[in-house]
Amino acid sequence: MSYVKVWADNQQLNKNEKNKLKKDGLSVFDDIPYYAKNGFESIPKDQYMYFKYAGLTVQKPQDKGLFMLRVKVPTGILNHKQAVVLSEIGQLYGRNVQDITTRQSIQYHWIPLEKLPEIFERLKKVDLTTSEAEGDAPRNVVGNPLAGIDPNELFDTRPVVDEIYRFFQDNPDFSNLPRKYKISVNANIYNAGHAEINDLAFTPASKVIDGKKVLGFHVLVGGGLAAKPYLAKQLNVFVTKNQVKKVAAAVTTLYRDFGYRKSRARARLKYLIADWGIEKFEERVLELTGTLPAAGKDETIGWNGGFFFGVHPQKQKGLNYVGISVPVGRIHSDDFYKIAELAAQFGSGELRTVNSQNLIIPNIPDHSIDKLLKNDIFKKFPIHPTFFTGYAMACTGNEFCNLALTNTKDKMLELAERLDREVQLDVPVRIYMVGCTNSCGQRHIADIGIQGLKLRTPEGQLVDAYELFVGGHLNNGGHFNERLKGRIESSLLSDVLKDFLFYFKKEKKQGETFYAF
Ligand code: SF4
Repeated sequence: MSYVKVWADNQQLNKNEKNKLKKDGLSVFDDIPYYAKNGFESIPKDQYMYFKYAGLTVQKPQDKGLFMLRVKVPTGILNHKQAVVLSEIGQLYGRNVQDITTRQSIQYHWIPLEKLPEIFERLKKVDLTTSEAEGDAPRNVVGNPLAGIDPNELFDTRPVVDEIYRFFQDNPDFSNLPRKYKISVNANIYNAGHAEINDLAFTPASKVIDGKKVLGFHVLVGGGLAAKPYLAKQLNVFVTKNQVKKVAAAVTTLYRDFGYRKSRARARLKYLIADWGIEKFEERVLELTGTLPAAGKDETIGWNGGFFFGVHPQKQKGLNYVGISVPVGRIHSDDFYKIAELAAQFGSGELRTVNSQNLIIPNIPDHSIDKLLKNDIFKKFPIHPTFFTGYAMACTGNEFCNLALTNTKDKMLELAERLDREVQLDVPVRIYMVGCTNSCGQRHIADIGIQGLKLRTPEGQLVDAYELFVGGHLNNGGHFNERLKGRIESSLLSDVLKDFLFYFKKEKKQGETFYAF
């Protein structure tokens, strides 16, 4: 491929890059049947990195032949057959557990190597894939989980999402990027796609062209979290729906050809844009796309945090969507199946996954709402959850993640449940916990972000500890939360948070939140 030469000639390459030159990441799908037949020992350790391209991470402890497996769900939209297959995979191969991720994907644990070919086959039959759910490639496209049914969307983004998902998916021109690459497409006016924390985001906008109001998108580039977080910056362009693919291809081409491949820590698009400046980046985009109109009117008017709890009317008269709480995104596959069956019985069968790690059942007629909500499943997964458990998020943590320094999901749940019992507030508080600086649980945009680390006690013991960050949001361009001084030993965390929230309760005005929903 011609582009390989561009960067190979001009940059010192890190080890992953050198390996990627030897073989394309997607070729792992050709190798997996052999490994599945011959056992975990047949996989040379230097091949582990390629498994990422199949949405697979070798699960800790790393010698058991088990994997974490992630399935892409573009903007969280699942039809009934897909939802059922996802629950079957958890039931048959994943010890009946599945997680909803902060990028609207579904993630499994304990997946045995030998079952991978049959899992891929099941997914393929319902047009789902694990391919590029991890790896240095375009990840799951996130966006509005209410696309097509949302009274608060400028227009239905489903066709645009489908077009760019299929354009990038398994496209060998874009399967070797310097690092992961995250796209958001959203036309909900409350920033449901969390635009500012993506490498490339399309946000709702309008512009008067030739005297006519045209609906389309603005374009944000270079956002991302981790140790050095950046809020994405806006290009001065207005893009119609049918220009999205062209613009996405241009931005991704620039990233592919000029993104940094020397250090993986500085490889995300945000670093290239920080060095070039947004004006130069925009010029280079326009060289590839041709002239585009300047930005128009930004139609985003706030941020909903990605929460959709309760029963709400859709834009289709007589139909409703029901937002359900899935505490820290973890659900038994049996329960996922039950919810999928209710979606079929009372709605259209569709289920939607949300970037706040929750679920939505769409398309419930007015007359079926009461009958649907009588089901016992909503005791476990309430539609009006408590203010701490319902608004908590957590990444995978040290249960399964090789990079984690602490537990997250269990710890977050225990903490939220105690706060629900002992702190009465009139507003929810979004607490997001992560097990390391990578911030998969998006702690930077939480009201209270909690990040795990190891702390050495005066007695020389290494113990789990956490740092606190306050005041994050994605309202009005966004603001990352700020670190409070000190590190808190795990056993003291809930006491400290309780005190902190009592202080918040005492000082705040009625109805005041950490930020305005
Ligand atoms: Fe693992 Fe760190 Fe990501 Fe949590 S934030 S899932 S600990 S890499």
